[in-house]
Amino acid sequence: MTITVIGTGFVGVVSSAVLASFGNRVYGLDIDVKKIASLTSGTIPFFEPGLEEMVKNSLAKGDLTFTTSYQEAVSDSDVVIIAVGTPSAPDGQADLKFVFAAIESLAPHLKNDAVVAIKSTVPPGTNAKVEKLITNHTQVTFHTASLPEFLKEGSAVQDTLKPDRVVIGAKDAFAIDILKELHKPIVAPVVVMSPESAQMCKYAANAYLATRITFINQLSNLCEVNGASILEVIEGIGYDRRVGQHYWYPGLAYGGSCFPKDVKELAAYSKAIGQDGNLLVKIDELNEQRPKELMDKYAEKVGGWENKVVTVLGLSFKPNTDDMREAPSTKVVPYLNSKNARVKAYDPITIPVAQKLYPSWNVEYISDPIQAISGSDVTLLLVEWPTLISLPIETICSQMKPGATFIDTRNQYAEKRQEFRSFGVQYIGVGLL
Ligand code: NAD
Repeated sequence: MTITVIGTGFVGVVSSAVLASFGNRVYGLDIDVKKIASLTSGTIPFFEPGLEEMVKNSLAKGDLTFTTSYQEAVSDSDVVIIAVGTPSAPDGQADLKFVFAAIESLAPHLKNDAVVAIKSTVPPGTNAKVEKLITNHTQVTFHTASLPEFLKEGSAVQDTLKPDRVVIGAKDAFAIDILKELHKPIVAPVVVMSPESAQMCKYAANAYLATRITFINQLSNLCEVNGASILEVIEGIGYDRRVGQHYWYPGLAYGGSCFPKDVKELAAYSKAIGQDGNLLVKIDELNEQRPKELMDKYAEKVGGWENKVVTVLGLSFKPNTDDMREAPSTKVVPYLNSKNARVKAYDPITIPVAQKLYPSWNVEYISDPIQAISGSDVTLLLVEWPTLISLPIETICSQMKPGATFIDTRNQYAEKRQEFRSFGVQYIGVGLL
């Protein structure tokens, strides 16, 4: 099949590369000329394990072309996949301006019976608007569908090759058949439903995971007062198969490009339809407040932040990515700067991204974790990068100032917290004493 993927951001490049690896002819299209030039030369503008090699292979075989030309790509394509960004609008609901702009650009070039599938996260009801817009710009017969994306940054290639499921939201048999054919090389359940349900599935999945994180964060707050250990509580509840042991990550707050945005959009939508007391509204509020609340709480334990040397370990929103969208560091560093702490930071790959995106941050970036920790009053572990979760505790403790504090917002060293204490370092985890 010939396919155009519109938007060569995170989702678009991964989708293009994977679909090309199945032997399709794929165009990755973007309006960002610099990005297209970089991708054409085989350089991916962000870090994702395994992606660059895959893109280079398909470029070399001629199965993948990056372009800025709607005419070149769309006029030839059986399937056009929309993967442009859908940021939150000022009222919190999804801003669909990039989706509609892409639709207006692609519609005049559609070939007969092309399928336009929306992979961007959009609210239920978007397909009807898209169909109307396309009709204004073309006479050909076309089909629309929803194709929500569930990949996780850091394991995006594997998630796309081996997803837990493929959800196809379409009403007409032609679109369903074409999209089933497109996903044939993937061994996973293919679930067909209405576009509205497919779009709601995407929001529901992220809202549920964000709720789970917020739930365990709230329980952690209680454990810190009553002497229970959140790790023991997780083990105790996890044997109940309805609850499970997996995906319990107490921490600073959920972040990333999707959870905060998708929960905010559902919360804003709930308010817009008069459901102000909706659980999702509360989840969003709790998550927004949490980084400041915890940093204020830590301030009491470290004797205030003013003039303290504070080392931040991890700048991305999670390991194996250099994506900083809604990363904990984006809350913690400005907070520490505002309190006149002296901030040092280490991350295995994200330092250049931080320097580019946040030039006003007052941070000394250090390319070695132990050097970064050296001489600090407080070390804050924000991301569980492999290089950061296996540091020798004795070295950490000997490098920090006497009586220093190690704040482990990922509970990575929780089982060994007494070791920190035996070296005279205050250890603070989440949901633990
Ligand atoms: P992104 O911001 O990284 O990339 C979007 C790209 O779209 C940019 O390169 C931009 O230049 C391009 N673009 C904007 N307008 C365009 C137009 N008119 N024509 C062509 N290109 C255009 O976004 P992303 O993280 O890849 O997310 C894309 C969508 O997928 C969003 O709706 C997001 O919510 C959803 N999603 C993201 C993830 C994730 O982990 N990043 C996971 C699942 C779903």
